[in-house]
Amino acid sequence: AATTPQSAFTGKTTHGVPSNPSYFRIVLQGDEGVGKTSLCRQFSSSEYMGTYNNNVGGDGELGETTVVPILLDDEESIMEFIDGTDAYQLDDVNVDAYIVVYSIIDLASFRVARDLARQLRVNLGTDRVIVLVGNKSDLVRKRQIKIDEAKHVATTYDCKYIETSAALNHQVDHLVVGTLTQIRHQLLPPGK
Ligand code: GDP
Repeated sequence: AATTPQSAFTGKTTHGVPSNPSYFRIVLQGDEGVGKTSLCRQFSSSEYMGTYNNNVGGDGELGETTVVPILLDDEESIMEFIDGTDAYQLDDVNVDAYIVVYSIIDLASFRVARDLARQLRVNLGTDRVIVLVGNKSDLVRKRQIKIDEAKHVATTYDCKYIETSAALNHQVDHLVVGTLTQIRHQLLPPGK
């Protein structure tokens, strides 16, 4: 199990001036076709994008990587999102947060997400952020998983819960900011 949850933390800001921003790695997991790649594409268009140039690159072993600088509360953080479609190691010590995605119109994908959330929480203990995401919220009339059901799973495994539509770019910024806020609260020492 992991021992250094903030191992990716590389620095802090002083007097609200972004300098040596902290760097966080976030892995997206979930069933095929739930929208992980689509979400990653939207992350780079966040309105909280910081001052750096975004760069999107491929990484053979880890899948596609999207690096997004985010300016939030006068503090800059770099978020590296890894599309972990290909069984990314569940207990990689260099990962700060997991975004576990399912599609709200696909019950099988919800079960996969529930099992992933359980596995992650059991393997990682309490020192890692997990966000459960119900994607494709635009397809309301085909919804198969009630919000209450999803919230119950999120509560059980100590996850934050957010519904998004990657297609409409709805609540995607909320997901980015919510994940970062949770990482800052949960993983960084107080006073940062
Ligand atoms: P991945 O396999 O998890 O990476 O899923 P993709 O990002 O490749 O998306 C799978 C399919 O679902 C594609 O056809 C997307 O266009 C579609 N899709 C992704 N997100 C949404 C969404 O929020 N709403 C709708 N209606 N379709 C979506």
